[in-house]
Parts: sequence; structure tokens; C-alpha cells
Amino acid sequence: MYKNFGINENLIELSAKVEEEVKDVFSKIDKICEYNSLKVLKAFQDNNISDMHFGSTTGYGYGDVGRDTIEKVFSQVLSAEDSLVRSQFISGTHALTVALFAFLRPSDTMLSITGKPYDTLDEVIGIKENSSSLKSFGVNFEKIDLIDNDFDYKNIEKVLKSKKIKLVEIQRSKGYSTRKSITIDQVENVIKFIRKIDKEVIIMIDNCYCEFVGEKEPLEVGADVIVGSLIKNLGGGIAPNGAYIAGRKDLVELAGQRLTVPGEGKEVGPTLGINKSILQGLFLAPSVVKASLKTAVFASKMLEKLGYRTEPLFNENRADIVQTIIFEDKEKLIKYCQGIQMGSPIDSNSIPEPWDMPGYTDQVIMAAGAFTQGSSIELSCDGPIRPPYVAFMQGGLTYEYGKIGVLKAIQNIY
Ligand SMILES: *Cc1c(COP(=O)(O)O)cnc(C)c1O
Repeated sequence: MYKNFGINENLIELSAKVEEEVKDVFSKIDKICEYNSLKVLKAFQDNNISDMHFGSTTGYGYGDVGRDTIEKVFSQVLSAEDSLVRSQFISGTHALTVALFAFLRPSDTMLSITGKPYDTLDEVIGIKENSSSLKSFGVNFEKIDLIDNDFDYKNIEKVLKSKKIKLVEIQRSKGYSTRKSITIDQVENVIKFIRKIDKEVIIMIDNCYCEFVGEKEPLEVGADVIVGSLIKNLGGGIAPNGAYIAGRKDLVELAGQRLTVPGEGKEVGPTLGINKSILQGLFLAPSVVKASLKTAVFASKMLEKLGYRTEPLFNENRADIVQTIIFEDKEKLIKYCQGIQMGSPIDSNSIPEPWDMPGYTDQVIMAAGAFTQGSSIELSCDGPIRPPYVAFMQGGLTYEYGKIGVLKAIQNIY
């Protein structure tokens, strides 16, 4: 069958060898999936999920029992006091934006301790000029870069002791940088450290791509609030859109007031028939994250064998579902992404090209033959067109589809 897709004999042989060598890593991933599946099932049962929660509301969306129960289920799974799980969030960036505008006030200072945040937040924060940015409202921004892929504890202490910081942001996944993603142990350590200096500062985590990769989520290690996208891990490839904000009750309340209307907050928000998809997506999410992780491990080992630098290495501890391949070559990056597209179920005949995407500074190439537009829990691969020409690959609804995508991409480079 692989030959039907134009994959040559050598590559098929190599993939069989690689699958032998990654067996132990795969069984660890199976165990994590098992744990998280039980966590999800328990939350469904404890909240008596039933047919009536699949109902729909329109207009204001008052009294949407499905929506309110979905938020209880998410809260339990994420160990949150409360959560907002809404299709009114366009994307992860939108949820992060709502959270930041909800928590910060003029003259407050936000401090990122993982360096410059994700590219799409540049105009939100005001790193890049925008007349609706936080900066335009008088909110200050400071950042401390990571050193050697860990937090710069000395500088964090210095800044926290020298001035009042309202909110500390930790972005776990690497975004379009070449740093490593932040593990849950690193998050735990830095939160303990921050709490010794400042008991009040809001610790907010950009948790995109990290849910269900391990057995613990950031609220369990002391974070105040976490934010993520439903067209990534927790949507399980089924949620049609949306994002979540979860954590301390008072913060979720502020976010609700900001997302909708002061005075209405979480009480409004029609679900327009998507409740069942949100629940089914969460139900499948542990397995889909498992498939994504296996696809990433497979790609890492395959490309390592072919002489490319990959991060993480196949057997490294993972914090997220993102696999990077450092091509050091523009054409190879483009060919790899185009090959991922060729291996997709949707739009496999389209050829993605680099373009000036809104929200991004450099040209970006994005491959995603996905059922849901922009979904990156489905196999997808993107990269900004700048040295060292890194492909950021993630997702895979099943390992089998992920594997053929990776093989097709490698074949396309050659
Ligand atoms: C994907 C992602 C986001 C949000 O991206 P959207 O495309 O707006 O959903 C934010 N931060 C990180 C680290 C991400 O990976």
C-alpha cells in the first residue's frame, strides 16, 4: 500500500526499523493515554453526562445546561475551580487576549518569563504597533529570556523584588522559536520560586499543545489560570472551534465578563449545537494526543536517521506535541511541508506556499489538510521562512495517518 503513495522501498524498510527502535517510547505514551482517559471518563461520570447535555441554545444562550456542565467537566479534568469553554473564542490567541485584557489594568505590568510570547501576541501586547493593543491602554510589558532552556531565576527574582508585577506569563510550548518546550516539572519549580517572593502575582500559563502530554496539568502545580485552544489537544479533532480559560474562580469570572458583557459574563453564550462535539472531542483527546505524540516520535527518529537535527530527540521527555526539524535549508523546509499536505485526507492536491499571514512577522508556510480549518491537532506542519529554516510539525488524529504523512513529506524532500 505504501508504494501506492509513491514511498520508495528504502524508506519503507527504514520505517520498519525505526518502529522497532521506538517501541519503548510508544509504550510510555500508551500508559499516559490510559491515565488521562480514566481522568476524562471519571469527569463524565461524576457530572452525569447525559443526552440532555447535547442540546443546543441560540440567541443569548441563557440556561444552556450542556454548556455549563461541559465547563464542570473541563474544570474537573484540568483541576480548575472554574472554566470558560466557549466557541465564542475564535482561537487560542483570542482566549489569551481575552484573559490578558480581563486581568490587566492601565499601568499594570505583565512579565513574560519565557521570552517573547507567541508571534500572534505581538500586536495584542503592543510589541508590534497596534492601536488596540494592551500598550495602547497603558499596560506595560517586560520579558525575561530563558537561559539554557530553563528559567532565568536570578533575573526573575530581581524583577519581582524591584517592582510590582501584576501577571507572570509562562508559555510552555516553543511557538516558532528554537528553544525547548517547558516541562511540567520546570513549571512547578518556577511557581514555587515565584510564590516565595510574591504571593499575589497572577501566574498565567499558555498551555497550547501541552494538555494530556503528561499526567499533570499546570493548575495542579500551582498556576492560577491556564489557556488553550480547542482546535489543538483538548478538542480531540472533533470540536469545530473554540478555546478555554480555566483556573481560579475569580479570574475565570473576570474573563467571562470580558468575553461577553460586564454584568452577564458566563451566563450568556449560545452553543449553536456544538455541545456534543465538544464532549466527544474531550473524550477522544487522550487518544488523539497519543497519536500525535507517536507521530512526532516516529518523525524525530526517521529524520535523525536521515541526518537531520531534530528536537526533541525521539526518546526525550516531551512537554508538548510539537516536533521540530531543523533543515538549515529553505527549499527542504518548503518541500517537507508540501509533502505533509500531500499526505493529508483533505486538499491533498493543493500545494502550500509561503505567504504573509496576518499576525506573523515573517512569511510562513502552513500545511494542513484538515477537516477543521486551522486545526493543528490534525497532522500539520508549518514554519516561518527564516534561518535556520525549522519545520514545526504537530498533530495526527491517528498514528497510521500521521505515519504516512511523515513518509510522504520525507519522500518529497528527496
Ligand atoms: C497555537 C498557539 C497559540 C494560539 O494559536 P491560535 O492559532 O490562535 O489558536 C498560542 N500560543 C502557543 C504557544 C501556541 O502554540
